[in-house]
Amino acid sequence: MSKQIQAIRGMNDCLPADSGIWQWVENKLRQVVASYGYEELRTPIVESTDLFKRSIGEVTDIVEKEMYTFADRNGDSLTLRPENTASCVRAGNEHGLIYNQQQRIWYMGPMFRHERPQKGRYRQFHQFGIETFGINGPDVDAEVIMLSARLWKEFGISEHVTLELNSLGSNQARAIYRDALVAYLTERKDQLDEDSIRRLESNPLRVLDSKNPEVQAAIHDAPKLIDYLDDESKQHFEALCQKLDALGIQYRINPKLVRGLDYYNRTVFEWVTDSLGAQGTVCAGGRYDGLVEQLGGKASPAVGFAMGIERLVLMLQTLDLTDEVPKPVDVYVTALGESTELYSMKLSEELRDSIEGLRVLMHCGGGNLKKQMKRADKSTASLALVLGESEMQAQQVVVKYLRDDMPQEQINRSDLVAFLNSYFKD
Ligand code: ATP
Ligand code: MG
Repeated sequence: MSKQIQAIRGMNDCLPADSGIWQWVENKLRQVVASYGYEELRTPIVESTDLFKRSIGEVTDIVEKEMYTFADRNGDSLTLRPENTASCVRAGNEHGLIYNQQQRIWYMGPMFRHERPQKGRYRQFHQFGIETFGINGPDVDAEVIMLSARLWKEFGISEHVTLELNSLGSNQARAIYRDALVAYLTERKDQLDEDSIRRLESNPLRVLDSKNPEVQAAIHDAPKLIDYLDDESKQHFEALCQKLDALGIQYRINPKLVRGLDYYNRTVFEWVTDSLGAQGTVCAGGRYDGLVEQLGGKASPAVGFAMGIERLVLMLQTLDLTDEVPKPVDVYVTALGESTELYSMKLSEELRDSIEGLRVLMHCGGGNLKKQMKRADKSTASLALVLGESEMQAQQVVVKYLRDDMPQEQINRSDLVAFLNSYFKD
């Protein structure tokens, strides 16, 4: 036998055992955004490398070391998208969706980052996200956060996630803060790690985001961004907090919250959980009022978030909140004897015609009753319909309960649809 080829490290197959929960999650996400009037924007997974360099920032983990970048056959530098905000802005500018307009859009799909694979961190992962354009807020900031809060409610995980909130202020205010932070960090340079020392020169705010406990201790008393906010950003932030209070959305102000991408200003937020271990951020977002112009469009305010679907799925599985996920099969239809095969096939088709959404698996491959019932048991079906020569003659079916301790029943074929409708109603 020749050697089997394996999947790329950090890139996962979604096997049938998991695809049910994925579909269920994706459907719910679509329903929620639809209920807020958002529309989908689908962009290619490959973009010009420059798009991400110009938006995410040259001195960020993503651009420095995580991008899948390669030369196209004509020599152009292309990159598998590491996130989708830049692509949305690129597409919005290119197609005139943002110019003098308000837009509310959502997206879902694979993203690629060359990170060290571990639980909740992969090289191909999936994000669901929303972006709004043309609205200054803070009303729309509150809407974006409210929408994310509704997601947790829908999935039953509200008690397991916490909202952390901060404001990065204007670019000018951040520049003043930056100087204060650099002065503070320079005095404590000996307590910083190599990464943080490098960042101190290139992107000092990112030092606040360090996960290294020693660095965290060193920055414990660092100056706080929130004390440096310009008046307008301060008002924006206070108004947002008031709206969240009025909406009953709880949050924790985290003055050290900065995002790993350069384009954010004013509002930034993360939904974090302690049910996932180290990879605790499920959803992250904020305002990025400068990005549209930075990528060549007419300036337009914007706010959005991105959520990691793997982390959400992991949470639902860890917390055992998957009861609502539909089973792949509801009814298993057997066919005993060659003469009944076509009859079973037609009956199965009739059930699919009559009962919307019913999942009917028809036995193929023959075999005796024992063999067919074993297959039925192994499927997720709750009922098996047993059909043999005599049932066919009598225009009846035998219903066997596969998951309940109940005696089998003989049912007239003409009553079958009504019977199944009543059995599966809830
Ligand atoms: P982290 O701090 O966990 O590295 P990040 O700041 O890099 O996250 P964002 O770029 O803001 O993350 O992406 C938004 C969300 O996408 C994250 O909160 C997370 O849920 C998910 N995510 C990011 N990177 C990965 C990855 N490599 N594998 C799985 N999910 C990811
Ligand atoms: Mg990251």
